[in-house]
Amino acid sequence: MSRRKMIYEGKAKILYEGPEPGTIVQYFKDDATAFNNQKKATLEGKGVLNNRISEHVMLGLGRIGIPTHFLKRLNMREQLVRQVEIIPLEVVCRNVAAGSISTRLGVPEGEQLPRSIVEFYYKKDELGDPMISEEHITAFNWATHQEIDDMMAMTLRVNDFLCGLFTGAGIRLVDFKLEFGRHYEGDMVRTVLADEISPDSCRLWDLETNEKMDKDRFRRDMGNVTEAYAEVARRLGIMKESGQGAANGDVGKGDAAK
Ligand code: UDP
Repeated sequence: MSRRKMIYEGKAKILYEGPEPGTIVQYFKDDATAFNNQKKATLEGKGVLNNRISEHVMLGLGRIGIPTHFLKRLNMREQLVRQVEIIPLEVVCRNVAAGSISTRLGVPEGEQLPRSIVEFYYKKDELGDPMISEEHITAFNWATHQEIDDMMAMTLRVNDFLCGLFTGAGIRLVDFKLEFGRHYEGDMVRTVLADEISPDSCRLWDLETNEKMDKDRFRRDMGNVTEAYAEVARRLGIMKESGQGAANGDVGKGDAAK
């Protein structure tokens, strides 16, 4: 574990003070939670895989000009990120019906949506992250109109990029969740993509068989969770072999970032 000062411990990650002011170290745990913390487990190797997958995706997004908090990967479980003020929203984008849109609106799971749909949720565990509208966001000052426009535009660009990335890997991007932050640079403030993008925060189905390759395997007790995450990493070209090597790596074993 890190020797650095802990700032915050979340369900799947720990944040430590970074080496420079304005930086944070994001540590990926093996812990998994679902249904608002009611279901918990430790999935050995998950943190290593999410660190690598999120790094790969954030670097790709950076290359097409999406501002992200990602700076560099430090080791198998940690990445250096910019310190941002997290906007208390979860921004979900859907291409295919699954999860809460199916239960709430009765759209059968697997049905292609007429267009990509972006939804906002208020990040509040005690309330079970309720879905909200732009009216709530601006009325309660959770974000400004400008920030909502920025998040919408970025989310749709992220969706286009991720759809292409995953299709190229034989994977259907069903839906995903993003979080954004405010990055202060002098008296300027910029909306940047934060948190992580991984099989914990996306629904990913095999393009041919529709087999689930994401956290739904854990939510629904389907087994082989880390194996599925490792397969996502392998198909993205991150890991040479399926599973092996990824799950074995750990900090403290001397694996330095490239
Ligand atoms: N999601 C997430 N964190 C949350 C809620 C949702 O990462 O706290 C992701 C989830 O993995 C899925 C997408 O957002 O890829 C849409 O989730 P949905 O609203 O269907 O909720 P769920 O079925 O996860 O309760």
